[in-house]
Amino acid sequence: MDWKELLSFIDLTDKRLRNLFVKNYSTEKERVFARVAKLTEEVGELSGEVLASMGSQRKEKLKDYNRSNLSDEFADVIITTLLLAKIMEVDIEDALKSKIEKINNRFSKE
Ligand SMILES: [Mg+2]
Repeated sequence: MDWKELLSFIDLTDKRLRNLFVKNYSTEKERVFARVAKLTEEVGELSGEVLASMGSQRKEKLKDYNRSNLSDEFADVIITTLLLAKIMEVDIEDALKSKIEKINNRFSKE
């Protein structure tokens, strides 16, 4: 999957979510709060899978451990982050380019 395909999927998913939850949120502000809550949920799930991958969860959680869950949760965090960026009208491609340049500049000075 390339960057264009990913952003196209995000646009489509944004439209699907707007249709699915059309009655749940009357304002964009409520929609933003819902997406922040969802991102927090997904970060929590990723944290749980990272702990499980290191054997640092309760026994009952470890018995269902499957490494593919870890991959799924990384994907969930990225997708929910991109959906939040979209609703916040952040150009994520520009944001990433700018951040990568800053990081590269930081390391080039060392
Ligand atoms: Mg998840």
